[in-house]
Amino acid sequence: MAPSPTLIEEAKAHCEATGSRLTAPRERVLAIIAKAAKPLGAYDIIEQMPPGTKPPTVYRALGFWEQEGFLHRISSLNVYSACKAGHRHSGGQFLICNNCGSVTETHICDTPKDFSTEAKKKNFQLDGWFLELRGLCSNCTEGKTHAHSHNCDHHH
Ligand SMILES: [Zn+2]
Ligand SMILES: [Zn+2]
Repeated sequence: MAPSPTLIEEAKAHCEATGSRLTAPRERVLAIIAKAAKPLGAYDIIEQMPPGTKPPTVYRALGFWEQEGFLHRISSLNVYSACKAGHRHSGGQFLICNNCGSVTETHICDTPKDFSTEAKKKNFQLDGWFLELRGLCSNCTEGKTHAHSHNCDHHH
């Protein structure tokens, strides 16, 4: 699979516009996540960095991109996913498959009214909303309807 040049290009433009430095580790970390098929944990990323890269360098780069809206951290899995929305949004919502572990971002950009109303009632200043929705992805539900996917823990 080709790396996602648009995300890196966007990131470059973003750094130029905001005056942030696009350091080599920052660029490398983002490129690794952008081309990964699945969200990655910090150690998966460190493994793909040039030898001798210190973990704190990677964590700092991850924090930077998360703050800039190019990455989301999925807390329960402790992994990072590149945001391909092409814009910054106030939250991240993920459909997580209980069977194969695939993660899909939903991209609901605006905070649903119920959440903002509840926050307002409690005088809570809401600045993001993150959701992890559990279930079965399309691949796994498809498999379920096929004869061979049931658990063969008995003898035929
Ligand atoms: Zn996103
Ligand atoms: Zn699945």
